[in-house]
Amino acid sequence: MAIARGYAATDASKPLTPFTFERREPNDDDVVIDIKFAGICHSDIHTVRNEWKNAVYPIVPGHEIAGIVTAVGSKVTKFKVGDHVGVGCFVDSCVGCAARDLDNEQYMPGLVQTYNSVEADGKTATQGGYSDHIVVKEGYVLSIPDNLPLDASAPLLCAGITLYSPLKHWGAGPGKKVAIVGMGGLGHMGVKIGSAMGADITVLSQSLSKKEDGLKLGAKEYYATSDASTFEKLAGTFDLIICTVSAEIDWNAYLGLLKVNGTMVVVGAPENAIPVHAFSLIPGRRSLAGSMIGSIKETQEMLDFCGKHNIVSEIEKINIQDVNEAYERVLRSDVRYRFVIDIASLAA
Ligand code: NAP
Ligand code: ZN
Repeated sequence: MAIARGYAATDASKPLTPFTFERREPNDDDVVIDIKFAGICHSDIHTVRNEWKNAVYPIVPGHEIAGIVTAVGSKVTKFKVGDHVGVGCFVDSCVGCAARDLDNEQYMPGLVQTYNSVEADGKTATQGGYSDHIVVKEGYVLSIPDNLPLDASAPLLCAGITLYSPLKHWGAGPGKKVAIVGMGGLGHMGVKIGSAMGADITVLSQSLSKKEDGLKLGAKEYYATSDASTFEKLAGTFDLIICTVSAEIDWNAYLGLLKVNGTMVVVGAPENAIPVHAFSLIPGRRSLAGSMIGSIKETQEMLDFCGKHNIVSEIEKINIQDVNEAYERVLRSDVRYRFVIDIASLAA
C-alpha cells in the first residue's frame, strides 16, 4: 500500500481539508499515475455537499485527472512510464455483467465511479484526483495527445466528454442549429467541440457578460436568458439544445425554442425534479432527453478529436489550498471557464 496525500470533504457542511489515505498496491493490469492536474467539476461540489444524497465521507473529489505514468503492471500493454494520461469519471465498469459493454458502460449498474464509490472488491472506497497519485486499471486510463498541454486537458476528461457524447449522438454538424445553455465548465467545451464538429452554435447564458468569449470560442450567436424577448425571438429555432445548468430553470420556456422533432438534452444535474408541461412536448413532437459522460472508448475518441483540432479547456490554475474559495466562485458562475488544481501545490 502506498500513502497518498490529498484534500477531502469529511462532512457536507465543512470545507475540504488535507487528508492522507492508502492507495492499493498495483495489480498486473494497473497503471500508477502521478497526478499533475485535477479539474474542478460542479459535480464535485454537488457530491461533497451531499446535494444528490449519496455522499459517503471522507470524499477526495476529482474526476478530471491528468498526469504522468510512473509504473505499469506486467500485463499492461497500452501504457509505459512517462506517458501523458487521463482518468475521468469512472475507474471500472460492468462489474457483475457477463461482459464489458464498451459503448454503454457508463449506463450499466456495475459502474465504479472515480470517487464516492466502491471498487469491484465490494469494499474499497474510491478516492479521486485532488491527490498526488492514483492506481487505475489499464482499460480505464486514457491517452492524452502529446500536442495538448496537460493542465488544460484535464477538464476534457469530464466536461469535454459530457458535451462531445450528446453532440455526436444527436448529430451535431453542418446545417444543425445547436444551443448550449450555460457558459460554464461544460458549456464552454460544448461551444468549442460543437463548432469544431461544424454545427451552428448559439449560447444561451444568464447575461451577456461572457458574450465576447463565447463568440471567440466558436459560437455564432449569444443571447441573455434574463431578457424575456430572447425566448420570443428564438422560438422554434434549434434542432438540439444541450442544457448544462446546475440549477432550476424554466424548462418549458427552453423547450419552446426547439424546432419540430427537436431534442433538449439534460446534462446539468440540479438537486430538484424537472417540472415539464405536456404541451411543451406534444406540439412539435419534441423530446427531452438525458446524457451522462461517455464510455472510455468514446472518451478516447473525444481526446483524439481534441488533439486533431487543438481543443483544450480555458482554465484558471489554482493551488489546492484555494479549493474551497474556488468552489464558492463556481457557485457564483465566476470562473472562466474551469478551475484546475495544480497538484504540485500539495507539497507546499
Ligand atoms: P458550472 O461551471 O458551474 O456551469 C454551470 C453554468 O450554468 C454556469 O456557468 C451558468 O452559466 C449556468 N447557471 C448557473 N446557475 C444558473 C441559474 N440559476 N440559472 C441559469 N443558469 C445558471 O458547472 P459545470 O461543471 O459545467 O457543471 C454543470 C452541471 O452539469 C452540474 O450540475 C454538474 O453536476 C453537471 N454534470 C453532469 C454531467 C453528466 O454526465 N450529465 C457531467 C458533468 C457535470 P451562465 O453564467 O452562462 O448563465
Ligand atoms: Zn464532472
